[in-house]
Amino acid sequence: MEQTNKYMEAMHNDPRFADMPFKVDEADGHAFKKMHVRPRPEIVTLRLEEDIDPNEQTGKYLTPREFYEAMQEEDTVVLDARNDFEYDLGHFRGAIRPDIETFRELPEWVEENKEKLEGKKVLTYCTGGIRCEKFSGWLKEQGIAEDVGQLQGGIVTYGKDPEVQGELWDGQLYVFDERISVPVNQKEHVVVGRDYFDGEPCERYVNCANPDCNKQILCSEENEHKYMRGCTHECRVHPRNLYIAEQNLTQEDIDAKLQRIEEEDGVTQ
Ligand SMILES: [Zn+2]
Repeated sequence: MEQTNKYMEAMHNDPRFADMPFKVDEADGHAFKKMHVRPRPEIVTLRLEEDIDPNEQTGKYLTPREFYEAMQEEDTVVLDARNDFEYDLGHFRGAIRPDIETFRELPEWVEENKEKLEGKKVLTYCTGGIRCEKFSGWLKEQGIAEDVGQLQGGIVTYGKDPEVQGELWDGQLYVFDERISVPVNQKEHVVVGRDYFDGEPCERYVNCANPDCNKQILCSEENEHKYMRGCTHECRVHPRNLYIAEQNLTQEDIDAKLQRIEEEDGVTQ
């Protein structure tokens, strides 16, 4: 923590980064295993033919309070600028869920679903507000929506705001570190995540045990054991299934589990 404070101080003492916002979140232990610093041609990858400079074109910045109020206005749609697995764990109540696996698919999704946004005021949000800087600018530039607002500081800031306290957020916030999820709404906790296998309320993410698949699925501990953490039959019986290795399952154990799935779910594969 001491070193982190020193780092923030050094950055703020440099005139180029004097007003750089840091989002501080307390956590038990290390949330990040290690630190990487890598040069990247594009920090949030949209791969547009003509790039957007958020310093020139971007949506109107809304504080948490302003965003909270704007969400409840008429003719307003709230568009989640994140990926499907992030949305599935938690999102603003009533927000549109783009069916995308990576951020760069978002422009194409919008073009195919223009009618959802046309003639409306559009509000966008993402985890820390960075993806929206570009995305909201792109929405305006394309003329898809005239009135575009973005949540300044993202969901992270919204959840910490002493006034709104994360209100109108349902579920948890997906984060890209060891914690996987953090709470947002300080007033009420509505579970929106659903177990991949049985559809029961669930907020526990695991990766499919087939290393070639690695798909993130919401799954209870019980179902993890039942399905050998495999998202499909192929993933369950994959020769390098990590769950089977961790649990030292014998072929007999595996057959017994597969048989149980067949009996209870009525499907073999
Ligand atoms: Zn899988």
